Amino acid sequence: MKKPDVVRNAEKLVRDDEEGKIFPSQQQTPPGLTGEMDPVPDHGEQTWRGRGRLEGLKAFITGADSGIGRAVAIAYAREGADVAIGYLPEEQVDAEETARVVEEAGRTAVLVPADLRTNEECVRSIGEAVEGLGGLDILVNNAGYHWERSGEGLEGLDLEEMDRTFRTNLNAILWLSRAALPHLGEGASIINTSSVQAYDPSTSLLDYAATKAAVNNLTVNLAADLGPKGIRVNAVAPGPIWTPLQPATRFPEKVESFGANTPLGRAGQPSEMAGAYVFLASPEEASYVSGTVIGVTGGRPVF
Ligand code: NAD
Ligand code: MG
Repeated sequence: MKKPDVVRNAEKLVRDDEEGKIFPSQQQTPPGLTGEMDPVPDHGEQTWRGRGRLEGLKAFITGADSGIGRAVAIAYAREGADVAIGYLPEEQVDAEETARVVEEAGRTAVLVPADLRTNEECVRSIGEAVEGLGGLDILVNNAGYHWERSGEGLEGLDLEEMDRTFRTNLNAILWLSRAALPHLGEGASIINTSSVQAYDPSTSLLDYAATKAAVNNLTVNLAADLGPKGIRVNAVAPGPIWTPLQPATRFPEKVESFGANTPLGRAGQPSEMAGAYVFLASPEEASYVSGTVIGVTGGRPVF
């Protein structure tokens, strides 16, 4: 069978030398920038072909400047949706690049810079997204954070980093969803980004893994809460995906072997994540899909 271009691109971006090193050693400071990564990830710029699956819909995607969020923004725009892009102010350059590709697809891009670690900023972000888009049909709670460099297990737990992780990954989902609710009508949906860490946690990510398990729980519970309003709530659980989060928060030697521990033997690219998010947002294709988590993990189990 001929390999799809998206797979060929993903395979080109990893190497597997004799020592099992998949990526060059590298380190950034959080939140990290796309242009400083070696290699620069693939977000589907050359490969995603829209088929009108989200025609006329309005989506707010947090963390859409880079990585998985950028790939989702590009796919959503090519499927016909206008997109509001959430990001941290220091990621302006990445956010503008995502907006450029969204606009190239003929859709509206709205820039929403904010640090989502407080309810006030979450409320303000939803307000700006709704105003810029003229409504809201899809909320993708994708912003996320982890910190691995303080060490393993409880002894390596840094309390400031733990607080940042909990607020970003968990509190913000509740704050954003709560603020978005008055704007979401029947057929709307919320999609949360979980992780394979929710199922198979690493001791070096004690706090992060716990937030992602909580995201799964919250997804099921919000689906029960909002189902009677005709609003679907789902999550996507990525495996190891090549994004700025990795060189920004992990030890350089872990970056080198990132993704080697999957059955497919490599890290995934953000471009390979977008399909799950498009499916879950599609009012037609996913009309009866709610309260579930789709794993996109290169073969690592999500049950
Ligand atoms: P990324 O660095 O490209 O994206 C994460 C984004 O989160 C950043 O771009 C930033 O805009 C946003 N963010 C972080 N802290 C924020 C804050 N305080 N306020 C506002 N925005 C903030 O990395 P990514 O890997 O694409 O991450 C997207 C999601 O995927 C995260 O939830 C992450 O936990 C999850 N995830 C990633 C992987 C992976 O291997 N890359 C695996 C499992 C889950
Ligand atoms: Mg970023």
